[in-house]
Amino acid sequence: MFEAVIADPLSAAIVREMTSKLAAGRGSLAGDMNSATRRVFASPGLFLPHLHAETGGGVNDLAAAGVTSWTLAVFGADFAALSGEIAKLARLPLASAPGFRGVFVEGPFISVAGAEDFDIRALEAFLDGTALPIAALAFAPERIDPASLLPLLDEKDVCGVVAHTKADLDTCKVAFDSGASGLSLPFVATPTLHHRSPGPLGAAAEASARCEVPVGMPGFTAQMGAFVASVFKERAEAIYHPLSHPGPIPAGALPADFARRAARAMGLGAAEFLSLYIGGTSARDSFVLFDEELNVLATVICGKTAFEG
Ligand SMILES: [Zn+2]
Repeated sequence: MFEAVIADPLSAAIVREMTSKLAAGRGSLAGDMNSATRRVFASPGLFLPHLHAETGGGVNDLAAAGVTSWTLAVFGADFAALSGEIAKLARLPLASAPGFRGVFVEGPFISVAGAEDFDIRALEAFLDGTALPIAALAFAPERIDPASLLPLLDEKDVCGVVAHTKADLDTCKVAFDSGASGLSLPFVATPTLHHRSPGPLGAAAEASARCEVPVGMPGFTAQMGAFVASVFKERAEAIYHPLSHPGPIPAGALPADFARRAARAMGLGAAEFLSLYIGGTSARDSFVLFDEELNVLATVICGKTAFEG
């Protein structure tokens, strides 16, 4: 019998039912499952909180890489540009597929490079008027008073993510104390650990915020990935970000071996890497079967088989 190493919080009954259904239609998977020597990992699947549509490819590409849920990132210089980009995203299959969790508004309009005249009322109107729901908003805490921004985001059910900042430890601490829940692109788009100050990373770690691990991003090294994984543990979030901003990320598709690359980038083994995804999922009907090398054997998204390897 195969060993469902990571079954919780998935319902064991659902995993059993879905795996036997998959195995019935596929001899090779049945062989895997009946092998005494080969372990199969049942995982809730990967969540990508910062996916650029250009690099996602299609739903098939995400499912082939073991991704069961995602947000789509947009990049634009002001509210009008962002709304336009979101309207374009709304036409993509990735934005209407069952694993879609909303838009990640990356900026750079509230970044350290953004315009100076930022208006919180305009932000509220923007959040209320977009073509797709907003899941998260990136901001530089030195550009806007977190004590006025975060309550508005909370009211709109939007996560605040510290990003594209040059802020120091104390400024970032105010942002996280006010409710910011994540740090985007550590090391490469934020100040790193300073002499006598741990900077945004230290503030995020102290506040128990989430922290991205940008797999494939130029300048983000394996040491940085291992550092984030060891400090943030289950709050480390692997994303695929093959190039740096400013500007859009060139088209491509999420590589099918993304899970293996991400685990390597974080210095983790397969079981440790997949255990990062046990918490934080509410889906009971989405899961992925990985082999021990983190190859995807099958992906089920919201009860429907989205990929069979
Ligand atoms: Zn990005």
